Amino acid sequence: MSCQNFYFNDSRDGLNLRTEFVLRSFMKYKSTRGQVSGLGFSDALLMGLASDGGLLVPETIPDVRLELDYWRNLNFVELAQELIPKFIDDIDAKVLRHLIAESYASFSHADVVTLHDLNGISVLELFHGPTLAFKDVALQLLGKLFEYVLSERGQRLNILGATSGDTGSAAIDGVRGQKNIDIFIMYPKGRVSTLQELQMTTVADENVHCIELDGSFDDCQNIMKTVFADEHYKANYHLGAVNSVNWARILAQIVYYGYASLRSSAEVTFCVPTGNFGNVFAAYMAQSMGFPVAHLLVATNDNDILARFFATGVYARGEVHQTLSPAMDIQVASNFERFLYYHFEQDSDRLVTFMREFTATGSASIGAPPNSRLMSSVAVNKEQTLAAMREVNQEFDYVLDPHTAVGYYAARNNPNVIGKETEIVVVATAHPAKFPDAVQAATGSEPTHPTLEALKGLKMHRTALPCDIDAVKKYLVGKLQIAREA
Ligand SMILES: *Cc1c(COP(=O)(O)O)cnc(C)c1O
Repeated sequence: MSCQNFYFNDSRDGLNLRTEFVLRSFMKYKSTRGQVSGLGFSDALLMGLASDGGLLVPETIPDVRLELDYWRNLNFVELAQELIPKFIDDIDAKVLRHLIAESYASFSHADVVTLHDLNGISVLELFHGPTLAFKDVALQLLGKLFEYVLSERGQRLNILGATSGDTGSAAIDGVRGQKNIDIFIMYPKGRVSTLQELQMTTVADENVHCIELDGSFDDCQNIMKTVFADEHYKANYHLGAVNSVNWARILAQIVYYGYASLRSSAEVTFCVPTGNFGNVFAAYMAQSMGFPVAHLLVATNDNDILARFFATGVYARGEVHQTLSPAMDIQVASNFERFLYYHFEQDSDRLVTFMREFTATGSASIGAPPNSRLMSSVAVNKEQTLAAMREVNQEFDYVLDPHTAVGYYAARNNPNVIGKETEIVVVATAHPAKFPDAVQAATGSEPTHPTLEALKGLKMHRTALPCDIDAVKKYLVGKLQIAREA
């Protein structure tokens, strides 16, 4: 553990320094289900899903209110270098600052993320990373953290993932070319867009393995879950995951909520297009740390389990609908358990009871709608999504991707949910050029991006496999033997 930063800001009073000391010395992680605690950051990073089936959360949440005046003047990378170390006590401070700077050097925008004003509603553009979706903000850093921790420990990691589109390419880009990692991404044949397939399969690095599976996304996910459930195979082949339950992904995402809130003149209402609840949970963490966040508006598409929950307090599984915003076509949000844990005042017994009921019956209730002052939720349908894209294009000559359009519509039509003036920030999760068909349908013209144009015509590297777990396992073993011998 490094002590280097204890006296970083010497204008602070003694009490504050003591708080800082306590937080830096003992930042540990525990599981929402109560069977794991005292875990260091690096172990939490490698564990992903907690070994008791719960999700990892920090044992304490740092209070940063006294630092905000100073933080207001920092750029994105500088803020990340102040905020992220508060949650990490087992990586040398200098090394960590360097890893953070390197992670964001791959972004095309000088400020990494940026705010774009649409007549009173700000759009927080998070899509300037290498794969043009907000997932890059977290996965670029995750890749660097993995690389460092693995090389310190002399370990290897083999990542197995299933993707319906965006996560695969962002995860691949985060770890491509690394010596201690091989990444295997399964995607459903014929069911990801041409651009998304190009983004994954044109990566030529030898540690990247794309599997075109003859099945649905659910089949891909089931194969992944079954492989991970085989403890012997998992340990023998050092398998790990990079899905959105990894705490380090949430951590990286807290930074842009803090950054945007410090650039606003009033408290902020963030409107977040939501699928697995990871992104909006990071906003909730920013609010808990003391950033000036007034409200969180959870925007969903027709897959409205969260909108129904915030209206009624009942969390009930529904059918999965295909929409224009495929990254949000999720019924059961894997990160929602973290929010419930805090709702239950960190009482694992209550959480476990709730989750058990939900798993057994497909429905569970917290008794009454949750406090709507902090969070509320709106479902946005296909016509509304298209209308939002069309309206923004006509009024402002600005193009929204269909996910961001869900958020914009929700914000535009519910501007004052808590009866108080706040600054509204819609989180833009993808560049519109990733979803040309939906944009074309709404606006009549097809958006492009040089990064995507450059992929067209490149050689695709992929292996077609039948929808069969043994075929996938055999393929992995074959590739890993080659990697070990190399
Ligand atoms: C992943 C994704 C989302 C959903 O984010 P969650 O953290 O799962 O809620 C929204 N929009 C886009 C473009 C995405 O790729």
